[in-house]
Amino acid sequence: MRLATGREEIYRGVPASPGIIIGSTRSLSRDVENVSADRIVDSEVEKETFRKAISQVEKTLEKTAAKVFQRLGPEFARIFEAQVMIAGDEVWNKNVEKRIEKEKICAEYIYHNESKKVIRRLGNSNDAYLRERVQDIEAVTARLVSRMRGEKRVTLRDFKGATVLVARYLTPGDILALSVRRNLGFATGIGGPTSHTALIAKSLSVPAVAGLGRITEEISSGQRVIIDGYKGLFIINPSGNTIKKYRQLKKSESQLKRQLAQLKDKAAVTKDGFKVDILANIELPEEVNLALSLGAEGIGLFRSEFIYLQSTSLPSEEDHFSIYSRIAKEAYPYPVYIRTVDVGGEKNLPQLKIEKEPNPALGLRAIRLSLRDKDLFKIQLRAILRASIQKNVKILIPMITEIEEVEEVKLLLQEVKDELKTKRIKFDEKIPLGVMIEVPAAAAITDLLVKEVDYLSIGTNDLIQYYLAVDRSNEFVSYLYKPLHPSILRLLKFIIETAHREGKEITVCGEMAADPLCAIALFGLGLNKFSMNPIFIPRIKKALRSVEYKTVKRVIQKAMTLKTAQEIEECIIENILAKHPKAFLMGQMI
Ligand code: PEP
Ligand code: MG
Repeated sequence: MRLATGREEIYRGVPASPGIIIGSTRSLSRDVENVSADRIVDSEVEKETFRKAISQVEKTLEKTAAKVFQRLGPEFARIFEAQVMIAGDEVWNKNVEKRIEKEKICAEYIYHNESKKVIRRLGNSNDAYLRERVQDIEAVTARLVSRMRGEKRVTLRDFKGATVLVARYLTPGDILALSVRRNLGFATGIGGPTSHTALIAKSLSVPAVAGLGRITEEISSGQRVIIDGYKGLFIINPSGNTIKKYRQLKKSESQLKRQLAQLKDKAAVTKDGFKVDILANIELPEEVNLALSLGAEGIGLFRSEFIYLQSTSLPSEEDHFSIYSRIAKEAYPYPVYIRTVDVGGEKNLPQLKIEKEPNPALGLRAIRLSLRDKDLFKIQLRAILRASIQKNVKILIPMITEIEEVEEVKLLLQEVKDELKTKRIKFDEKIPLGVMIEVPAAAAITDLLVKEVDYLSIGTNDLIQYYLAVDRSNEFVSYLYKPLHPSILRLLKFIIETAHREGKEITVCGEMAADPLCAIALFGLGLNKFSMNPIFIPRIKKALRSVEYKTVKRVIQKAMTLKTAQEIEECIIENILAKHPKAFLMGQMI
């Protein structure tokens, strides 16, 4: 535990969910401490107590799964089902019983000891998915140990007032138990791309900062802190001035939220009458309603890999189909762009048996993997086609590098269509097919690619990483990750203008679209279709409704003549943002 200095200290983490909380900490230790190897007298009694404890843990987890199912739907519930499976693992539990009999030591010590061994193995894995499973095992072990010790679990509903829950990580169960509370924030030590914490925090509108490192394990309960989920800041012992500043921000935040809520049914139309379509990126089917309630005009990107991330086995055609048709029905009459699976690389899944690769970002991922495992790909295509009967579904292919891949996709799609026709299964015969432009090679042949497909969608997250040779998740080079780098703007200009010249639709679905400054740059380059995380839709609408296209176009033309990202940024701020402080400076916040 670290000693409180009383001085203001600012820690920078990853902004996981927007919002501000000024409150006191509640620290949640994840370690099951002091599990001693107590000798037991009767191994039969100990084994029986162990079995009972396991069955109680399973029951509690099943109950939580049912509650979560009700509140948030099947996808979240699956997270708990994974924990039920760990608790009920027969091989593991039999092994614990064998050791109880042989070593005459208490069950909680042996269980804890076994789980440490597995965690060590998984924790060293390069695979983010496997590392995430460590959290599930730790959660089950903590439950089991406290059951065996007869301890009452601290329920997180107990504390009063504005609270920032600080922990190395939080399980979905923790977050759910808390979701009834208002005035709550999370600060976690870890948090990666497959972290459920950030996702659930966003869906429940709980401000959160992740990736804060060791400080979350060192801080004690009852410390005065602020978390700033917009910037990813965790401020310990904030000074009077800082508190004043954040109180003011919170006040503006509420005013702005009220103002932005009024934009829900208003289109993003500029002052001189240009209409921009605003769609939502989602990972979970549950987010469709949130997206529509925030004014989305469709689902511009459904990252279908989430279906794989929640299950330990491969999803069936029916699993795919039920999710796609639910999204399509809920979003109707708006369009839904279903991106075929983008796993591989960092998102390695054990179900897919991908070899470990030396350079995963450049490896067997997304469409490359789908074209290797064609049967799996066809299952997904079949499910998407079956969900397309209302004619509001589009297929989007990730990580296209060359024309040959598109040709192969088209052949497979035709095969699946023919199979469905033979079986007299209905689908949208004219289902639009589009590709992501996120590999520089694809960007360079936009003129050729665009003729092969119905539409394009620019994935700026990957396009920037590959064009600038800057790993998008590596904090050591993040200072070089510049969406407004002149090279990126030139490339985007070429892609957008080429697609429009061919009369084809083009969207940006990378994070750039959700940043007001970058959105203005994209708009000035002629982009009229944006897709983004739903919570950012109101601020982009607000920004676009405040400007005139002709002014933005002129400013971006001027910005394109500048030499550095910083000069470009300053040019846009000076000529656009500063002229509309209400729309932008506050809009930056939400
Ligand atoms: C992108 O690369 O911009 C994109 C939208 O895809 P993802 O973030 O899922 O890689
Ligand atoms: Mg991408």
